[in-house]
Amino acid sequence: MHSQSSKGSRWPLSLHLEEFELGGKAIQQNSGHSGNRNCQVQVRGPVPNKHTQDWSDAPPRFYDRVMKTLPLMLAIALSVVSCQAAEPPAQVNKQVNHMDWKPLTPEERRVIEQKGTERPFSGTYEHHSEHGIYLCKRCGHALYRSDSKFDSRCGWPSFDVEVPGAVLRHPDPDGERTEIVCAHCGAHLGHVFLGEGFTERNTRHCVNSISLEFVPSPETAYFAGGCFWGVEHHFHKLPGVLSTEVGYMGGDFPHPTYEQVCTGTTGHLEAARIIYDPVLITYRDLLQLFFEIHDFTQTDGQGPDIGPQYLSAVFVQGDYQRREAAAVIAQLEKCHYRVATAIRSHAPWYAAENYHQDYYAKTGKQPYCHIRKKIFDK
Ligand SMILES: [Zn+2]
Repeated sequence: MHSQSSKGSRWPLSLHLEEFELGGKAIQQNSGHSGNRNCQVQVRGPVPNKHTQDWSDAPPRFYDRVMKTLPLMLAIALSVVSCQAAEPPAQVNKQVNHMDWKPLTPEERRVIEQKGTERPFSGTYEHHSEHGIYLCKRCGHALYRSDSKFDSRCGWPSFDVEVPGAVLRHPDPDGERTEIVCAHCGAHLGHVFLGEGFTERNTRHCVNSISLEFVPSPETAYFAGGCFWGVEHHFHKLPGVLSTEVGYMGGDFPHPTYEQVCTGTTGHLEAARIIYDPVLITYRDLLQLFFEIHDFTQTDGQGPDIGPQYLSAVFVQGDYQRREAAAVIAQLEKCHYRVATAIRSHAPWYAAENYHQDYYAKTGKQPYCHIRKKIFDK
């Protein structure tokens, strides 16, 4: 069943990607370049020449000076407007990112969007001490690792350091405190306080529980993308992945053998189970790798392996994984990919026979139809 033939030209991915990337770059380069050029031209054009304008003129000539500099002032004002209007790349990114955002309850909106505060000693995570990672409730990006959490007895979860680059600080409108927001989506998190001496970092991120979503470690992810040898091969060597196993999933047939699954009648798919530490690698990272190592547009199998047991699917556990998988697929569809990958609910897992486990590591061979092609920026 596992043919050693090449996948040939079944990869429409790189073509689509180039179209998308080129389009994106064209937008950025055109708008950014022309915007800057317009600004420079408009600002520089009317700048007074010291040989033609005498700035040390006596007061009686004030009116003339105003009239001479009026065009300059107008030009500067217009150029500022054109600069502000000429920044579509950020807007484009924002529109894409909005698709990732989780719908919020009224209370979540009050805190996250309207910068409210939950009642002290009322949040889910104030005394929470499991090992794992805290994500932004709205966009799902990692914000704080559990090993940065400490008990400040202030009534809200406290952290002394954020995941690098995950949190932005702004002066609070009250003029005294410093607000912290998710760097990815701008969700209000709470405030940061310095110099209180709680930990060596001398910093306390005071965060509303309702702005967070916790993912425990270790976590498990399941991916089906054709021959499970190749899928496991790519995840096995990833930093943050603790262990991998190949098996069968999605059918009603209990404890199937490889030969039974190969008939295509058991309902099972060849799949890989990935146990990982979400503190070190996110589910989003795993999803992105999954979509980069197989042809998720193929509807009848994977490469030369044709049949229902080789279909592309993500078996999700819980709302968080479902939302993340949907967000990544939506991102791909926005880039005009026809995604054949199904998002399926978690199902019983049956480990494959030993000789299938770590197949490429044991044999020293290379995957014949799972070659990574980069399609995500990160
Ligand atoms: Zn966020």
